[in-house]
Amino acid sequence: MKIKVDPEKCNGCGLCEDFCLRSVYKLNEKTKKVERIRKENCVHCFLCVEKCPKKAISIVVD
Ligand code: SF4
Ligand code: SF4
Repeated sequence: MKIKVDPEKCNGCGLCEDFCLRSVYKLNEKTKKVERIRKENCVHCFLCVEKCPKKAISIVVD
């Protein structure tokens, strides 16, 4: 199971950087898109999926 960010939907608001308690996300200041820099920290709490205002984050089952 993976969490995926759709770059087409992400508006670079950076909110996920704050609400992910595991510091998975980091906003790329150049591209204004969020990157999952600490994927291995993810505990699949789905908070980011629920809270992203653009519904850009989704769960992908491998
Ligand atoms: S909360 Fe959603 S729209 Fe905002 S930066 Fe994160 S993924 Fe992008
Ligand atoms: S599922 Fe939870 S731990 Fe994983 S990236 Fe989203 S908010 Fe962070």
